Amino acid sequence: MQLTPHFTLAELTASTKARAHDLDNTPPPEIVPRLVRTAEMLERIRSTLGVPVIVTSGYRSQAVNRLVGGVATSDHTQGHAADIVAPAYGTPLQIARALAPLVPVLGIGQLIYEQFGASSWVHVSTRVPAQAVNRVITITAQGTALGIQP
Ligand SMILES: [Zn+2]
Repeated sequence: MQLTPHFTLAELTASTKARAHDLDNTPPPEIVPRLVRTAEMLERIRSTLGVPVIVTSGYRSQAVNRLVGGVATSDHTQGHAADIVAPAYGTPLQIARALAPLVPVLGIGQLIYEQFGASSWVHVSTRVPAQAVNRVITITAQGTALGIQP
């Protein structure tokens, strides 16, 4: 099912963890319209970066979310969030820095640069956090910092 011109429901629900553990990661029907909104945000990001955007994690059922160690209240479980990379543009850090000043323009509710060891990605959500100061943050093994760091 095509959600928007460049993003499918399959892409936004694919999970290697779910497959490995034989878990069904099919979203309930009420989540699908949220995934459409998420895909629409991803289209705006894609046209801003000018390159394909690859979703590494979108919707996660609670079971899948537990497996990947996500927090129970994760926006991923509500269909609001996607983790992305765009190698044709640059590193996740470069992507996060490019998107940070455009967060309100692109309708990004929350932008997180996440970096753990050699892995890094950009988390984008349509949901605006309760505290505006948390709208653009960096999460690493050292903890959470405001803005895109370093
Ligand atoms: Zn995420």
